[in-house]
Amino acid sequence: MHGHDLLVVGSANADLVIHVDRRPDAGETVLGSDLATHPGGKGANQAVAAARLGARTALLARVGDDAHGRLLTGSLTSAGVDTTRVLSGDTPTGVALITVDPSGDNSIVVSPGANARLTPADVAGARELLAAARVVSLQLEIPLESVAAAVAAATEAGTRIVLNPSPPAALPREVLAGCDPIVVNEHEARVLLGPEAGDTPEAWAAGLLALGPRSVVVTLGAAGALAATADGTVRIPSPRVAAVDTTGAGDSFTGALAWRLGAGDDLVTAVRFAVRVGAAAVKKPGAQESFPTLEEVGQL
Ligand code: ATP
Repeated sequence: MHGHDLLVVGSANADLVIHVDRRPDAGETVLGSDLATHPGGKGANQAVAAARLGARTALLARVGDDAHGRLLTGSLTSAGVDTTRVLSGDTPTGVALITVDPSGDNSIVVSPGANARLTPADVAGARELLAAARVVSLQLEIPLESVAAAVAAATEAGTRIVLNPSPPAALPREVLAGCDPIVVNEHEARVLLGPEAGDTPEAWAAGLLALGPRSVVVTLGAAGALAATADGTVRIPSPRVAAVDTTGAGDSFTGALAWRLGAGDDLVTAVRFAVRVGAAAVKKPGAQESFPTLEEVGQL
């Protein structure tokens, strides 16, 4: 079977955004801007990021049989993602209700919806796809047992696993041990490591490596990223850009990284590419809308 460069197993959400002068208190109503509806969810974002760069990408996810599901499928398809495993059912598409105040601070309520219905049986149904892909990319916006099932199936098939443990949660050692790498930002590193995390990216990477993954990547916003294996750590700076909107930067980074690792790049080479993709993504507003083509990455 002709496999994909990248299979993403993860979430697809509609992001419903309203700008407000201030957030309501309990029992209060405030008026806001017109509603903006954007395709999102870490799984869909990573898949769109990789496909826009030219990777042959498939997404295994669940959406509802509703307008948000169609919005997501449309966005994935126009980026070139194979959506034959974007499963649809009675449960509504996941949504994130986002209010943004004038200082740019967010309040977010997430309804996982169909994402919570992506089962280990769905993962088993994609076994051949998993085995044929060069790399599988996972996050934690779907049930943990489904993530664990994907890790087990990919490990058995010899497919490389990239995991962004977000939102951060304690993971069984056998899940972490299958990952090469886990990709975290500062917040995720601190939650996974707890009060003993330490204060430098190098300390977080060492602590995370001790949890079992073969490699660790820590993203550092405008400062770039750090790549760590048992052989040592390397800091990779990000190109300097005028940042407009960092939404989805981490997802574009991880989608790009997973693709390049599957293509055979070593970890540092893949991170060098991924920081350029993340930097290109922050130059434009939005998440999926901001993800660059290969040509745009080259122009940085
Ligand atoms: P988000 O939650 O906003 O998607 P994140 O916290 O998961 O992001 P970051 O570390 O902020 O991830 O960003 C990922 C990558 O994007 C960085 O490693 C870097 O390459 C790029 N990036 C992010 N912010 C900037 C910036 N201001 N300037 C240049 N590059 C940036």
